[in-house]
Amino acid sequence: MNVKSLPFRPPPSRDELLSSWIGRLAKANHCSVEELCGYLGLGRGRVPEGINDLGQIDWLRLCSAVQRTRHEIAAMTLPDATHHGVQYVSRHDFQYCPRCVAKSPDLALRHWRLAWSMTCETCGQTLAAKYSANDVSGRLRARAARGAEALKTAAATTDPRRLRRIGMTLQVMSVLKIGHLWSLTSVSERERLLALAAVDIGTTRPLLGATIILRGNDRGARELRRAFPQHRRVIEQARGLSQDLGQRFPGRRKTEHPTRKTHGTSPPSASVSALQAARQAISELGAGANREALLTRADAIWKSSDGVKS
Ligand SMILES: [Zn+2]
Repeated sequence: MNVKSLPFRPPPSRDELLSSWIGRLAKANHCSVEELCGYLGLGRGRVPEGINDLGQIDWLRLCSAVQRTRHEIAAMTLPDATHHGVQYVSRHDFQYCPRCVAKSPDLALRHWRLAWSMTCETCGQTLAAKYSANDVSGRLRARAARGAEALKTAAATTDPRRLRRIGMTLQVMSVLKIGHLWSLTSVSERERLLALAAVDIGTTRPLLGATIILRGNDRGARELRRAFPQHRRVIEQARGLSQDLGQRFPGRRKTEHPTRKTHGTSPPSASVSALQAARQAISELGAGANREALLTRADAIWKSSDGVKS
């Protein structure tokens, strides 16, 4: 059925989301979004956003009412994207561009809904989270930006191996209760940045990531073994490494930096000497000795070895 075209048709902004444009069309034509959707033959439910939402619609009616081609309308929708448990497209506005929204308050762009988008493609402004975190370190932001790039590449190439690995990273975070399967598009900036940073570590150095997580975390290791029995061997490997990691810095965090500064001791050699100190302590006191006693002895050995160097 052909319908009359809408009297007022503000053009969509570049990369505008279909639901955003429909909202603006309704406002321009002085009707509610629901009334407009009825007129456009879109049903009375949720305003369509995803490409799958447009399955059963009367294209002729919609296209003639808004005077746009089917291709133009489909290009304003979000892709169908849940691959290997990685939800990188959001169905809610978890972030926005302060500059674009200041100009046009009802605007929502497509790429703002993608997990890897960090800046506005229209004006170049950094996108703002719905709930921003002020005390996030520059290091975490940089790591999250690398994770975002890795995620974008994995999604663009639909590389099943990479997507599986990212999915696994999110599952691990969710089992350990440090994130959720949907953290990549969380309204909480901190949660999202952590998840993106985990994607970076999970795709480049997964074993290191697991090792850092499991350091001194017996409960976490147990929960991972229970949730991923098929990966028991890797978990044990990471667990062993994390114990080494614990021995490399036996209570020496405060004095480690001045030593590095004054004598230019590189971190690896400091770690090696710490490891040697730990080994010596174990050989003196025996592997079964009280952990606290071992650490105290290792600390003393390390301090004296630093004294020899300086
Ligand atoms: Zn913008």
